[in-house]
Amino acid sequence: ATPTALLVGTGRGAQMGVLIKGPEVLESTRRVDTIVLDKTGTVTTGKMTLTDVIPAAGVDRAELLRLAGGLEDYSEHPIAQAIATGATAEVGELPTPESFENIEGKGVTGVVDGHTVLAGRESLLAEWSQCLDDDLKTAKQAAESQGKTAIAVGWDGAACGVLVVSDQIKLTSAEAIRQFRELGLTPVLLTGDNQAVAEQVAAEAGIEQVIAEVLPKDKVDVITRLQAEGKAVAMVGDGVNDAPALAQADLGLAMGTGTDVAIEAADITLVRGDLRAAADAIRLSRRTLGTIK
Ligand code: ADP
Ligand code: MG
Repeated sequence: ATPTALLVGTGRGAQMGVLIKGPEVLESTRRVDTIVLDKTGTVTTGKMTLTDVIPAAGVDRAELLRLAGGLEDYSEHPIAQAIATGATAEVGELPTPESFENIEGKGVTGVVDGHTVLAGRESLLAEWSQCLDDDLKTAKQAAESQGKTAIAVGWDGAACGVLVVSDQIKLTSAEAIRQFRELGLTPVLLTGDNQAVAEQVAAEAGIEQVIAEVLPKDKVDVITRLQAEGKAVAMVGDGVNDAPALAQADLGLAMGTGTDVAIEAADITLVRGDLRAAADAIRLSRRTLGTIK
């Protein structure tokens, strides 16, 4: 193999906004047949906004926003930031929690204004015996059928409302997925978000296979399982919780707009956070290999 061809390959890559870690990466691009895509921040923009506030019967809307907003202000999750920003815009300054705990992949809890507040997945509230009533369940399902994410909020032992945040699919994602198929790659959407939201996003992006409601620590196991089934797996992600999966994948690609931990774990960085660059990277690498052989 002539090292010059590899250098040309990686140099052209840099021009296209693709950083390839080393020449050994090129070989993996030829083997991969499956491409696993993280949802939030990879297929979608990850920029969420608070779109609906649904208090339970007898619960004050401003109180719901103050308690949930105060708590979420302490979380760095994109969902949390959307809730805190939306709450501040409506009710002004938020109370500072007396305690705060992040429940990885499920939500957050803490004491705000003397109330023990919980915000996150419906199943998290259920674990604390806080069940959504029929009206809240209906509101949650309506939001999810539109591809939005509904966060359940409860305090003092009862479910008190639902907050709806929405993220948007990137304009370039559907085109990127079409290109993956052209390259012979089967796309799979992987997310911690619920099945309904995941399916809606997958439909918009043109992805048929969905693996949803996966806890952050279990993302890597999904990659291992696909590999055990004989698949050669590329994975594209952006978050801290994607790093182990990116490292386990036969080919790891990180969004340059994502976290440093993900970038370090990956073989390829997509500088602009545009999923089409993943297709460019694979096409270019395969072509580069072709000129060497
Ligand atoms: P993804 O895999 O799409 O990046 P995560 O694994 O980070 O998603 O989160 C999974 C789910 O856990 C979210 O969709 C949400 O329901 C819940 N969740 C996580 N963090 C929070 C938070 N700070 N506030 C409310 N809900 C949360
Ligand atoms: Mg993510």
